[in-house]
Amino acid sequence: MKILLTSFYDLGKQPKIIAEIADRYNNTEVHFDFVDFSVDNQNIDLNTYDVLGIYAPMHTATILSIEYIKDKKLPNKVFTFGLYGSVLEDFNPLIKYIKDIESEELTSFLKLNENQEFSLKDNIPNRQIFPDISNYAHLVDGSNNLIAGSVETTYGCKHSCTHCPVPISFNGSFKTYSLEKIVNDVQNQVNQGAEHISFNDPDFFNGPIHALKILEALNHKFPQITYDSTIKVEHIIKYQKYFKELASLNMAFVISAFETTNDKVLTILEKNHTSNDLNNSIEISKEFGIDIRPTWMPFSPWTELEDLSNIVELIEGYQLRETVDPIQLTIKLLIPKHSLIIKRPEIKKYLGDYEKESLSFQWQYENIHAEKLQFTLFDFILNNSELDEHKQYLGMVSIIEEFTRTKLITNTNYDFKKVPKLSETWFCCAEPSKIQLDRIKTNKAMI
Ligand code: SF4
Repeated sequence: MKILLTSFYDLGKQPKIIAEIADRYNNTEVHFDFVDFSVDNQNIDLNTYDVLGIYAPMHTATILSIEYIKDKKLPNKVFTFGLYGSVLEDFNPLIKYIKDIESEELTSFLKLNENQEFSLKDNIPNRQIFPDISNYAHLVDGSNNLIAGSVETTYGCKHSCTHCPVPISFNGSFKTYSLEKIVNDVQNQVNQGAEHISFNDPDFFNGPIHALKILEALNHKFPQITYDSTIKVEHIIKYQKYFKELASLNMAFVISAFETTNDKVLTILEKNHTSNDLNNSIEISKEFGIDIRPTWMPFSPWTELEDLSNIVELIEGYQLRETVDPIQLTIKLLIPKHSLIIKRPEIKKYLGDYEKESLSFQWQYENIHAEKLQFTLFDFILNNSELDEHKQYLGMVSIIEEFTRTKLITNTNYDFKKVPKLSETWFCCAEPSKIQLDRIKTNKAMI
C-alpha cells in the first residue's frame, strides 16, 4: 500500500505528527511518502497512491489544503488529522477525520498492522522523512539567523478559551510526552544543526513541574541551546516561582496571548485574565529578565476604538515596541465550525452565516468605526511591506491616533532594540491574512 502524507503549513515547524503516523505503521506492507508544501513545491501524481493523509493543524493549513485538492482526482481513501480535521471533513465528506492518531479508528481505516512497540508518549519521531531542518523557521537574533527545531512536552490544553481551536478537540484536557522522547528528539535536531528549540505546547505551563523538569534536563545536556515557549498570562502570574527559573535555563523569550485590553472581550473569550493582569505579567517578566512577546487579537464584534489606543499605551508604557509584530494589531476573531464562542450568548446578535470558502462564520461589529480602523490598519500593512517593523508600527499608531483623536507617541527617541524572535510569527487562532497566505504560497514565510 502506498500512502502519501501531506502538510501545508505548521507555523514554520516540521510536522512531527506525520513522522509519528509513519512510525506507527512502519512495516513491509506499506510505503509512506511525505510532502511538506510549505517548503516544497513538487508536483505529485496522486493517482499513484492508495491513500492520502492531510494534516490540518490550523485554519491557514486547511485553506491551503482545500486549494490544493479542489481540482484533483483523489485516491479512494483520504483521511485528515489535526485540530482542523473536523472542519476539513465537513468541507468534503469523502475525507475521513481521525481525531486521535493513536486510536484504533486509524488502524481500521487504513486496514494495516500497527507497530506494537509504538507509543505516542515515548516514540522518538524519525525526522529523516522531513526536508532538511534548515528549510524551516529560524531564530532571528540581531544579525544571527539560527536554525530552530521544535518539540512539545505536552499536547492538548487544560483551558477552554472560547476563540481557540484546541479545546474543540481536547475538551480541556492534555497529555504529556516522556522525558526520554523529548531529549532524544532534541538531540536528533541538534545533530541536524538546530541551535534553538521552540516548545510547541499550546501552553508550556499546563503542567509546569513536568515542563521545568524537561527544560532542566535539556539545558543540562545542551547548555548552548536557547528556547522559546508559549505561556498564558494567568500561568505567568500563578506560577511565578516556576516562571523565574526560565531565565537561567536559556528561555530566550515567552510568547503570551494577551488578545486585548478590553475586559468585556476577555470575559467572553474566557481567557481567565484581565487587562490589569497584562500589566502584572509584563512586570513579572521584566523582574525576572525574561522577554515577553504578546500576541493580540484586537478586533472582535465588541471592539471599541479605545481598545487600540489602550494596547498602544501598554506597549509604549512598558517599551515593548520590538516585541510586537505589527500585523498583530490587525488580527480579527476567527469563528470556525464547532467554535466554543458560538455557545456564548453575547455572540448571537453579531453572528452571521457560515461561509464555506473561508471555513468560518461571518460576524458583524457593534461599532462600525472599529471595522473601518481594522480595514485601514490592514491596508497600511499591505501597502507598506517594504518598511521595517519599527516604521510599520509607527505608521499604524499614527492611524490609531487619528481614529481615536489621542496622542499616543510621546517618546520620539525610542531605542528600538533587536530582540530574538522567530522568523515565522504566531497566528494559530487568527484568520489568515492575505499577506500571510501569499507569503506561505510563495514559500517566503520560512526565511
Ligand atoms: S488559547 Fe491557549 S490557554 Fe486558551 S485554550 Fe487555547 S491553547 Fe489553551
